[in-house]
Amino acid sequence: MSLTREIKDFALDLGYHDVGVTTAEPFTWFAGEMESRREAYSWVIDGRLKMIDCATPTSVMPSAKSIIVVVYDYAREGFPAELTGKLGRLYQSRSYVAPHNRIHGARRHLYKEFLESKGMEVTLAPNLNVPERMAAARAGVVTFGKNNFAYTKDAGSFIVLTPFIVDAELEYDEPTIEAPCPENCRLCIDACPTGALEPFKLDPRKCIAYNCFMSQDDYAPSTSSHIAPEIREKMGSWIHGCDICQEVCPRNQRKLKANPPVNEFLARIAAEFDLHKVLLLTDEYYETVLRPVMYNYIRGKKYFQRNAAIALGNSGDRLHVPYLAQALEDPEPLVRGYSAWALGRLGGTAAKAAVEKALSRETDESAKGEMESALAM
Ligand code: SF4
Ligand code: SF4
Repeated sequence: MSLTREIKDFALDLGYHDVGVTTAEPFTWFAGEMESRREAYSWVIDGRLKMIDCATPTSVMPSAKSIIVVVYDYAREGFPAELTGKLGRLYQSRSYVAPHNRIHGARRHLYKEFLESKGMEVTLAPNLNVPERMAAARAGVVTFGKNNFAYTKDAGSFIVLTPFIVDAELEYDEPTIEAPCPENCRLCIDACPTGALEPFKLDPRKCIAYNCFMSQDDYAPSTSSHIAPEIREKMGSWIHGCDICQEVCPRNQRKLKANPPVNEFLARIAAEFDLHKVLLLTDEYYETVLRPVMYNYIRGKKYFQRNAAIALGNSGDRLHVPYLAQALEDPEPLVRGYSAWALGRLGGTAAKAAVEKALSRETDESAKGEMESALAM
C-alpha cells in the first residue's frame, strides 16, 4: 500500500468525510487578492493569523512539500430548533478548531500523531493558517459557491476543512477549482440581509458573522467592540454566526432536509438556551451553556451580552423590555449601551422611561451616547 493511500485510509477511518492531497506550492492568487483587499481584511493579515504570510507554506514550515486536507461533515448530526437562527450550525457542531481535549480536537491530534508516526514533520492550525478552502480545492475535495463557501458533493458547505502541512512528497489529487452553481443563481447574494456578498466576494465588515465575533476591542489591530447601527438592525436573532447564505443554497437542500438526530449534549445546551440569560449573563451560565459550544472566537462575557441585547432589540417583542431594563444596570458600559439601543428599537413608554432613568446616572461617554440615540429613535 502506498503512503498516500495509507494516509487517506487513516483519515477516513477516523471519521473524516474525505481527504485530498496537494503540493505545498504558494497560493499566489490568494496572497495577491488579500493584498488588494487589505483594508477589509487587515484583521487576518496584520493580526495573529498572518494570512498573506501563510499563503506561502514554506514560510510556515521551511521543509514543506505537501498539504493534506481532511474534510469533516458537521451536518451528520442534527441541529435543535431552539438554536436555529441564533447560533451558526458550524459552532453548534463544536467541530471548528476544537481544543485537543474535545472529541473533534482529539481527532485532529490523532491524525497528526499518525502522520508523525510515518516519519513526517507536520504543522497544523493554530500555527498554520494556509488558505484552507483554496488548499482543499487544489487537493480536489471541494468546489466553490458564489457565497465563497467550499462545497463537497455529499455534505454541501456544512464542512470543516483542516489542512496539515507535511515534509513528504505524496501522490497529488486533481484540483477542482471551479464553481458548479446553477446558471444565473444568485439566491445567496439576494438573501444576505446586509448586502455583504457579491459573486465570489465578501465584505467581511458587513457580514453578520464577522460582526458577532470580530467586533471585540483588541481582537486584531483593526477591530473594536462597536457594531454600526445599520448592521445591528439586520443581525436579526443571530448571536454567534449566520447561516443564511448557506440555508438558501440549492446545493445544500439535500443535506438540510436530511434531519438526522440531535446529539444529546447539544440537545441539553439547546434546552437551557435563553437569550434573557445570555443578556443577564452569570459566570455559571457562561461556563455551562455558552463556552462549551461558543469557545472559539468571543473572548469575554460582555460581547455575548451585547449580541443578545441586539437580538432582543430586533425581536419586535416588548415582553423583553424588563430584561433589557435590568441590563442597564450591568457593570459593563458596552452592555448598558447596547441594551439602551435595544430598548430604543423596541420603543414604548416603559422602554423610554428605563433609558431616561439610566441616562440620568450614566457616567460612561459611549454608553451615554447610545442612550441619547435610543431616546431619539
Ligand atoms: S453569513 Fe450572513 S451576513 Fe455573512 S454573507 Fe452570509 S448571509 Fe450575509
Ligand atoms: S445560492 Fe446559488 S449562487 Fe449561491 S452558492 Fe448556492 S448555488 Fe451558488
